[in-house]
Amino acid sequence: MAWVERFTCDVCGKLMGESENWWLAAQECAPSRDGTLTQPVLKLMPWDDLIGHSAESKHLCGAGCAHTFLDRWMAEFHAGVESCPGN
Ligand SMILES: [Zn+2]
Repeated sequence: MAWVERFTCDVCGKLMGESENWWLAAQECAPSRDGTLTQPVLKLMPWDDLIGHSAESKHLCGAGCAHTFLDRWMAEFHAGVESCPGN
């Protein structure tokens, strides 16, 4: 294999090493209970190479950057910068 994927952290820009515990985050929109609204949902999951290739995935180099990413995500929804389609 001549081609090697180089992942970088979406928060701090760090290049992925071999022995680090990376995480993935992905945003989804889930219907509310009565079906009239969509609710933003943030999924956090242990690193997976296949999912890491997905365009929607955010790459996080560890718990510190996962916390930072969550803080930003929450602030953006609070500020109305981000929203779910259909709202
Ligand atoms: Zn990072």
